[in-house]
Amino acid sequence: MPGFTLRVWLTRNPEPGTRNCMVVTMLDLAGKRVIVVGLARSGAAACRLLLKQGATVIGADRRGVREIGADLCSLERDGVGLELGEQYLHSLLLADLIVVSPGIDLREPSFQRVREAGIPLIGEVELAYRYSEATLIGITGTNGKSTTTTLLGAILTQAGLPSHVAGNIGTPLCGVAPSLAAGEFVVTELSSFQLETIREFRPRVALLLNLAPDHLDRYDCVEDYYRAKARIFENQQPSDVAIVNADDPLVLQAAVQARGRRFAFSRTRPLDAGAYVSEDHLILNLDGRRETICRVSEVKIQGVHNLENALAASLAAAVAGISPMAIRNALVSFEGLPHRLEYVAEIGGVRYIDDSKGTNVGAVIRSLQSFTVPIVLIAGGKDKQSDFGPLVPLVRERVKRLILIGQAAPTLRRALAGACPMEETSSLEEAVRCAATAASPGEVVLLSPACASFDMFTDFEERGRVFKAAVRGLPPAADSTRGQA
Ligand code: ADP
Repeated sequence: MPGFTLRVWLTRNPEPGTRNCMVVTMLDLAGKRVIVVGLARSGAAACRLLLKQGATVIGADRRGVREIGADLCSLERDGVGLELGEQYLHSLLLADLIVVSPGIDLREPSFQRVREAGIPLIGEVELAYRYSEATLIGITGTNGKSTTTTLLGAILTQAGLPSHVAGNIGTPLCGVAPSLAAGEFVVTELSSFQLETIREFRPRVALLLNLAPDHLDRYDCVEDYYRAKARIFENQQPSDVAIVNADDPLVLQAAVQARGRRFAFSRTRPLDAGAYVSEDHLILNLDGRRETICRVSEVKIQGVHNLENALAASLAAAVAGISPMAIRNALVSFEGLPHRLEYVAEIGGVRYIDDSKGTNVGAVIRSLQSFTVPIVLIAGGKDKQSDFGPLVPLVRERVKRLILIGQAAPTLRRALAGACPMEETSSLEEAVRCAATAASPGEVVLLSPACASFDMFTDFEERGRVFKAAVRGLPPAADSTRGQA
């Protein structure tokens, strides 16, 4: 495929009556009654887009006015009708279209009745897609989505391309994609919940980074979760690009049906079509021509998992026509995101690391693998019915003491019994104080909870902020007592 670049290809082949050679079914929503279920950020953005299309919009949420807050007033002012509280799903069967937010569990019986009645139901990203001319790059996987999405956005910006970052990362796609011109890139982070409710959603470039068990509180079995992730490839055509992790057998399995042109990335072996590490360098090989991006040591974000994220983002950027030089410039300067193995402070020779986004077992395994010194690990939170068993070998090998917090503390204690000394605390602040006492100079205190945060915090960001504040509030006297526990 000499000279292949997606960007050049896209601008050369527009067909009249189609958008970027794609036939997209536009939704004619004027005068239609559309119910948006879930009024957090993406639900609110969906309401606004629907109002613009002339729909009669009803916003439904289990929470009340006080819990939802200020955004609600502005939605109501703009003309959104509201159905709040326990009965929020009572009029679903009167809708012409239902748009659900990713937080909504579709196993709820009301949605079964919606399906039986044949009422169309889509997610917020599907809605955005129907009204967008932008070029979508979709990124999913169990871990690394936000890092890879942000890094790819940074590479595109480095290359001087108009690009935007949206989706599960925090900025709803409905608020971004519809206002963009054809050819502008939107790098879209996609969760399994968002992919569950697509119909025609078709990213021109789709990345599946990795797969590991997660969210078993929302899926009946792990295979359902993997199937939801694999839907990122579902509507792709041979002219699209599917990027997979060649080192992850579950990813390769999930992508078997993908119709797009296949590229892969690997940390462990050279590839004919993709990006890989060879002799300590990141290498691109798209069309039989090997190009070096940079040395591994030049990539600013640390850890083997981040090397995988860097390879994935570099490959997607190269497919979009970005030069290795622009990719390199972004890789050497991108600092990573807060709450992902983020260095907080060094106090009395102990390093404190905030990995509040380590919300599943797979992420915590990678985080533990990132340190060679003994670790005092703070873990726990809202259990997602995870199997913590796979943590045992690494905890035994690397964790000096485990400090447990939150609802999942008893489950974690049972699952990791005997792997290392452990104690339970009643708050994150107390956990930090206990960790400070347990850690000796040269060691690491790591918050990497393996659980969601919602039992004690609004989200993982608040949990990370509380951790950092507690670390910064440690009394200097803690220095002298450290190591004596
Ligand atoms: P996501 O958006 O998928 O949750 P993030 O980039 O926010 O991913 O990272 C979340 C957590 O996963 C962090 O704790 C990080 O250390 C870990 N992580 C990041 N990238 C990977 C990867 N490629 N493989 C495994 N774990 C990863």
